[in-house]
Amino acid sequence: MIFSLILNMKNTQHIKTICTHVGELEDKRFKGAVSPIYMSTSYQFDEVDVKRYPRYFNTPNQEYLSKKIAALEHAEAGLIFGSGMAAISTTFLAFLKAGDHIVLQNTLYGGTSNFIREEFPKYGIEFTFTKGLNISDFENAIQSNTKLIHIETPSNPLMTITDIKGVSDLAKSKGIITTIDNTFASPVNQNPIDFGIDIVIHSATKYLGGHSDICAGAVACSQEHIEKIWNVAKNLGGSLSDFMVWMLERSIKTLVVRVKEQNRNAKKLARYLDQHQDVSRVYYPGLKSHPDYKIAKKQMRGFGGMLSFELKDELDSLKFLKSLELIKPSMSLAGVESSMLLPSETSHALLSQQERDAVGICNNLIRFSVGIEDKKDLIKDIEQAIALVKASAVDFRL
Ligand code: PLP
Repeated sequence: MIFSLILNMKNTQHIKTICTHVGELEDKRFKGAVSPIYMSTSYQFDEVDVKRYPRYFNTPNQEYLSKKIAALEHAEAGLIFGSGMAAISTTFLAFLKAGDHIVLQNTLYGGTSNFIREEFPKYGIEFTFTKGLNISDFENAIQSNTKLIHIETPSNPLMTITDIKGVSDLAKSKGIITTIDNTFASPVNQNPIDFGIDIVIHSATKYLGGHSDICAGAVACSQEHIEKIWNVAKNLGGSLSDFMVWMLERSIKTLVVRVKEQNRNAKKLARYLDQHQDVSRVYYPGLKSHPDYKIAKKQMRGFGGMLSFELKDELDSLKFLKSLELIKPSMSLAGVESSMLLPSETSHALLSQQERDAVGICNNLIRFSVGIEDKKDLIKDIEQAIALVKASAVDFRL
């Protein structure tokens, strides 16, 4: 047997304990406190239960981290990938073939939309982006050949909220498999499998890694589904090196502590920005003014560390980002350090202006990944940057 990522039963421990201990590899020889790293790319092939190889996703470190991911997402099994996009593309291709159809929510991470639009026509796979996020929008997009429904909630970058149970109930009633990108919520704030979703996907580059130094992806679901995904994964080859697997296992030990602090900071920053005279709009699911606050409250334990906002028209967003001193104007998100970016220039730059306008991503939208610094220092930085922009005396430090 080549493949042995079986987690025999769902883990019933609490999330802090799962983060700290599940998926640890015991150091039997030296009794060290942390998992050893097995960097070998070649393992014995005969008289063994499992034929191990990094691209089979089953080296000791890969196998054990998969258990941690599965436990975190209340799933039977997991797989670790070399990036979030490797996890997303492999999962889609595991369940879709020429002539099949997938329904995707209209507000998705730009890389996912781009993958669909650029690659699926080559494979003869049909797709429909929903018109909105109501259950009726998903129902209207379903066709007789629909095999998958994919959602992302909260979504990147507008923090839209999709009713997870509503979508999974609809899909189940029609025998369609559901996938969710749970990157923004992280397993600390949301466990979609509890609401009936079949397959949970993460860009582990974000909260699971949490320190802006790991590029990885993860999938968690039933054993039956993971075997289908694995069959495609070993062909596509998007595995993660064992050193990075080890780094990710170590990082997840502090996931709860980090994310809870980011939740707290983001809520306070969202409230502060919401009442700021120079801010025209704030997008954060934890604000009562968010159109889907009630759904968010139903399915999330915390509202996450991500928010977006728009400065008032006369204030230049790019100048504002260049005026920040503490908050980093940088790509990616979810690190312990706060960062901001313009989605129109980064995560959603590959979409056309028309496509961005259609989903409401305006060019001056700022995405804010709130870190674990003291909120008072973050507010001070925002204040000084706004003051500089207002005075139009920006020292371009970038
Ligand atoms: N999903 C979301 C919500 C993201 O924000 C990203 C990246 O920003 C991805 C998936 C892709 O992940 P990766 O960059 O690890 O491939």
